[in-house]
Amino acid sequence: MSAAEQTEVIVIGGGIAGAGAAFEISRTAKVVLLERESHCGYHTTGRSAASFTENYGNGIIRRIVLASRAFLTEPPAGFSDYPLLSKRGMITVARSDQLDLLQQELETAQALVPSIVAMTPTEAIARVPVLRADYLAGAYIEPYSMDIDVNGLHQGFLRGARACGAKIVTNAGVTGISRQGGQWRVETPAGTFLAPRIVNAAGAWGDEIAMMAGVRPIGLQPKRRTAFNIPAPDGVSIADWPLVNDVGAEFYFKPDAGQLLVSPADATASAPMDAYAEDIDVAIGAERLGQATTIEVQRVSRSWAGLRTFVADGSPVVGPDDEVPDFIWLVGQGGYGIKTSPALSRVCASLMAGGGLPDDVARQGVALADLTPRRLRIARLQKAFAS
Ligand SMILES: Cc1cc2nc3c(=O)[nH]c(=O)nc-3n(C[C@H](O)[C@H](O)[C@H](O)COP(=O)(O)OP(=O)(O)OC[C@H]3O[C@@H](n4cnc5c(N)ncnc54)[C@H](O)[C@@H]3O)c2cc1C
Repeated sequence: MSAAEQTEVIVIGGGIAGAGAAFEISRTAKVVLLERESHCGYHTTGRSAASFTENYGNGIIRRIVLASRAFLTEPPAGFSDYPLLSKRGMITVARSDQLDLLQQELETAQALVPSIVAMTPTEAIARVPVLRADYLAGAYIEPYSMDIDVNGLHQGFLRGARACGAKIVTNAGVTGISRQGGQWRVETPAGTFLAPRIVNAAGAWGDEIAMMAGVRPIGLQPKRRTAFNIPAPDGVSIADWPLVNDVGAEFYFKPDAGQLLVSPADATASAPMDAYAEDIDVAIGAERLGQATTIEVQRVSRSWAGLRTFVADGSPVVGPDDEVPDFIWLVGQGGYGIKTSPALSRVCASLMAGGGLPDDVARQGVALADLTPRRLRIARLQKAFAS
């Protein structure tokens, strides 16, 4: 039997969260990242819509996105060969029965992102000519919403972590976690690892990892979201179309490598698993697309699904466990984990080291209490007392 490998921090999970955490933590500590699959990014990270919008998710998420923009716009030298963000824009559309909601959402959006402005249906149709005039009653545009090069960001994190001495171990699904002499002992098929601290970045499996470690779970709920590609409409240039998003969260579509990516914006509760697209969700997406646009879906070239994982209040969970402080959470990023990863990785590294929130994140109006796992236990206690 080979000896257990000693390190300073074990990061569990090689999606964008674990990669970002390894990148930040490896600047000051020796890191081993353990990923169960044969390559990092196989699960939710490899299945996103690659969108950077400052106008999606709750107020905490939006503020963390604002704190992530500078890194994505100007990553450290050598981080990536290509820009991580490219111009896309995002139009939010509404039917006549959704106009009140559109107005509310516009006011909320403008409070944080003043560049978001209302547009007329005619202006929206000029940008995306397939939108139906008899469907569209109102719209607004977020002009500086972008596409993210997810692979570039993920690989940049991993490459940067390796350059600082981190070890990335794949085919290393964690099967057991125990305490040994004040350290964590983590068992995997690729070997046994010892470290005083663990970062739990296991996405949909975050509560399973906690339970393995004897830490109380926080109520993570994975929700399946479906996406599919269809060919671009004949004779139409789609490259400059913005992402089009329905204000009622019933669908969205955007250009994707010469095709259209369409999603029914589903959120079906799921166990942690290798998620796949159900035919019914693809059919719902095609139907909603057909109601809002002149596109009739004839052929789906690819479909997939991923798990967006949430806790009850919809905000991420970052920082040391309040009962077991050597166990650090970095989970619950929901549908926002790519665009928030630069700031959340820094938050994770700072809180793990006993510091506070990075200044720029705090300046955006995010507080420790918004992210700590403790808030979930307090909320549960308050609910129990109230009932
Ligand atoms: C259709 C769709 C569209 C999306 N669009 C966007 C978007 O436009 N913008 C955006 O910002 N976000 C988007 N998201 C959300 C984003 O993809 C997620 O928030 C993010 O990928 C979560 O990253 P993660 O690292 O936490 O999880 P994952 O990528 O799932 O990584 C967790 C990793 O942990 C590993 N793991 C689990 N258990 C173990 C174990 N026992 N041992 C070792 N490893 C283990 C898993 O194998 C996995 O690789 C979208 C998601 C979906 C599904």
